[in-house]
Amino acid sequence: MKALFRLVVLTLIMTLTALGAPCISAAPEITPAQWQVYQDMAVDLLQKYLRINTSNPPGNEIETAKFLKQIFEREGIPSEIFTYEPGRANIMARLKGNGTKRPIILLSHMDVVTADRAKWRVEPFSGKIVAGAIYGRGALDMKGTGLLQLMTMLILAREKAPLARDVIFLATADEEVGDKGSLWMIANHAKLFQNAEYLITEGGDNLLEAGKVKVVGVDVAEKAPFWLRLTVTGEPGHGSRPIADSATNQMVQAMAKIVAYETPLKVLPAVEKFFRDIAPLQPEPLRSQFANLRASLKDPAFVQQITSNREYNYLLRNTISLTMMSGSPQTNVIPTTATCNLDVRLLPGENPEAFLAELRQVIGNPAVQFENINGFKPPNSSPVDTELFSVITKVMKAHHPEAIITTRLLSGYTESQLYRPLGIISYGWEPIATTPEENATVHGNNERISVQTLRDSTREMYEVIQQVAR
Ligand SMILES: [Zn+2]
Repeated sequence: MKALFRLVVLTLIMTLTALGAPCISAAPEITPAQWQVYQDMAVDLLQKYLRINTSNPPGNEIETAKFLKQIFEREGIPSEIFTYEPGRANIMARLKGNGTKRPIILLSHMDVVTADRAKWRVEPFSGKIVAGAIYGRGALDMKGTGLLQLMTMLILAREKAPLARDVIFLATADEEVGDKGSLWMIANHAKLFQNAEYLITEGGDNLLEAGKVKVVGVDVAEKAPFWLRLTVTGEPGHGSRPIADSATNQMVQAMAKIVAYETPLKVLPAVEKFFRDIAPLQPEPLRSQFANLRASLKDPAFVQQITSNREYNYLLRNTISLTMMSGSPQTNVIPTTATCNLDVRLLPGENPEAFLAELRQVIGNPAVQFENINGFKPPNSSPVDTELFSVITKVMKAHHPEAIITTRLLSGYTESQLYRPLGIISYGWEPIATTPEENATVHGNNERISVQTLRDSTREMYEVIQQVAR
């Protein structure tokens, strides 16, 4: 299959040459033997990267920044460490293009979440290979992807690949806790990268099934957290003499209305595309229903079915999860105040004020006070009809003919939200495909990446970046 593909490409190139087609910058030909060398290097370097403990807190990303800097120095790639607090640092490296296209940023975070040693098969910072997988906190989230981005820089430099764009490597601190690394770079050094056209970072969640990549996701949008604290104040008293409109009673009534409330369904273009793309994987009648989502949502039975699936429901509406409640600290005391916290997630393009007005109307009690407690930032998204998206599609299709390449809307927040306001098209995409079991190890126990996946991904990441940057 692969040989045939190569033959077709070769014939095509020969035909174009014969026709005197303008010569696009020739892609450096990397031999299979040379790929072996690069892939071995990727495995070795990832093991070393995973051995540096950057559990956040405290992070201590200065150690990984030094590790990466020393590799860039060895390869003759200019780089700089930006220390913003003792022990906390970002690193940026750049390969210069000829400037005919705007730069692309390869963004990763160097910090990892903590690991519960006792529950792991191996030491979480050992980088040990067991049964064909490299173990270590960060193997998937996201030192593995950062390493692929590093390898891309290194291969582009060694192969002297002609570049139309600058390729910027940016590895940051603190993504897992407070985004301080990225926020600091944007606040203090945005001029170094704000003219970029593209940025890629973690995301996508590619699905591996029976050894084959079935779905490749490109995250183009995220929902925005709009956390609320609701407070009711009322007359306090002794628990032995009930007060009908006590703070707690009013709060419970408000919460009951919130829990029963179904937010309106809304279909964003990226979500519509997602359902259309995955439609062929479904049995009928779902296949036709997914292919025509807007029409299907007019059928109450379909709405019931699709919204009862958590993974689909959040794509179609603003969501509200009731997560915290508090009243009196003592059983026999009717408290002055009662509160509850709501984890609200808004779709891109939503107006938080309008959502609050909607919620106030649902509750219908002016005694309930609302407060936003997370410093809401408007959600944003990136377009799909871009050169980067089509290159990702082309490269991933060439390697995984069975895969469906689609857009995704994340329920969670990513750092893409910080970079899009600079005018940079930001995608969550990585070539790494995981089985659901492997994916469950992210932020869990025994986080690992299969050696074969790392090897394949080294090449796929390089091909995407080389093709979009040439
Ligand atoms: Zn991450």
